[in-house]
Amino acid sequence: MKFGGTSLGDAASVKHVAGLIRKYVQTGYQVVVVSSASSGVTDELLNMCEWSLKDEKLIADRVNALFEKHLYMAEMSIENCGWLNSVLEILNSSKRELEKLLYGIHYVKEITPRIRDYVASFGEVMSTPILWGCLSSVGVKAEWLTGWDAGIVTDSNYGEAKPFIELSKLQLRNKLQPMIDRGIIPVVTGYIAKSQDGSITTLGRGGSDYTATLIAAALKADEVWLWTDVDGLMTADPKIEPSAGTIKELSFEEAVEMAILGAKRMHPRALEPAIADNIAVRIRNTFNPDNPGTLITSKPTEGGDVVKAVTVTRDVGLINVQGFGMVGTPGTAAKIFQILGKANINIMMIAQTVSESNISMVVPRKTLMKAVSLLETTLLGTDLVRSISYESDIAVVAAIGSGMRGKPGTAARIFKAVADEGVNVRMIAQGSSELNISIVVKDDDCEKAVRAIHKAFHLGR
Ligand code: ASP
Ligand code: MG
Repeated sequence: MKFGGTSLGDAASVKHVAGLIRKYVQTGYQVVVVSSASSGVTDELLNMCEWSLKDEKLIADRVNALFEKHLYMAEMSIENCGWLNSVLEILNSSKRELEKLLYGIHYVKEITPRIRDYVASFGEVMSTPILWGCLSSVGVKAEWLTGWDAGIVTDSNYGEAKPFIELSKLQLRNKLQPMIDRGIIPVVTGYIAKSQDGSITTLGRGGSDYTATLIAAALKADEVWLWTDVDGLMTADPKIEPSAGTIKELSFEEAVEMAILGAKRMHPRALEPAIADNIAVRIRNTFNPDNPGTLITSKPTEGGDVVKAVTVTRDVGLINVQGFGMVGTPGTAAKIFQILGKANINIMMIAQTVSESNISMVVPRKTLMKAVSLLETTLLGTDLVRSISYESDIAVVAAIGSGMRGKPGTAARIFKAVADEGVNVRMIAQGSSELNISIVVKDDDCEKAVRAIHKAFHLGR
């Protein structure tokens, strides 16, 4: 069971979570708990890094404020004095360590990716002992561990570190299984681990999910439950489409499409360990535990329509590279992608028609101008490329569902739905896996497009 930030957002939530865990333990479940940082804390820590560079005077105050929040959470959620004191001791020692680290940043006048991960790790290092203390206080035998103590080892790609899967799984098993066998609930920090040289690393934002699936795979768990603050993955963003409902069942491949696109409820790589070991993943609502949530498996039984969800990705930009010299010239696409790849610019969507005279791409908006200027300086003026144009006010709307595979007419329904709303489609892509049809529309039109597709496939409750 992994608990996200809002599930640990205040003392009342922590108590509620501890009660939930206790209930499952008492009914015979063997549980490993993975804890995320309290909501907003990872962001606050990353901000602290930045302004520690500039302003020494603020360091003590902001560290204090962060710790006050955690001390208060501990005091209000842990009733047993003995456990509370142990937790307060841990929090105080983390506080001193973080303060020194931030002063260090100030005097050294630089933040390296390694230091940033070290600072970011304090969120989980503070929240996890509080949950452990609360659990112990309500009579659950538990022990808390950091991701590295539990056995997760990563490469040194700070900020987005990849675990060495087999080694980590072996170590996780060796460390956690004996605890479970002794009836002890391991409470592990999500998101953080160490590299082989012993530096603290993070698995990327939202990485606690990844920690949870990795542990589940190591222990051959029956299910991973990702506890969050919504009932599960939704058919659309309810802020855009009020009739959006929870999806009961999804396949792994559908869920991967949703995690990457807009649904933002999962770390994009979090499903990998679950897929590899075929472990069911359930997304559940901490604050509505009677709802079964969304179940993600290799073979969902629940059918549903051909399209299961509509997502939207905003904050993107479109680039169009055009030139008759590109027609029939091998290596053109490679050249373009290499230029962007070298500059670490992620390409999110690609389209080229069979005439080969232009290639369109969608990239994150914050990298759009950099991408355009790189392509301009490298490609313009060659006989290959005639013009490079871009648009920044666009969004990608995607219809997702493996039921559309081999089912004629799905694209027709999507395009008719958006056309009936008067929305112009700027670009289209569908991979041959036929799992996802993505269309680019004006940003102003994207909500209309989502609602139209949602309605056309009867996804409303
Ligand atoms: N605390 C980390 C973050 O906010 C990891 C997580 O929440 O899963 O990204
Ligand atoms: Mg979080």
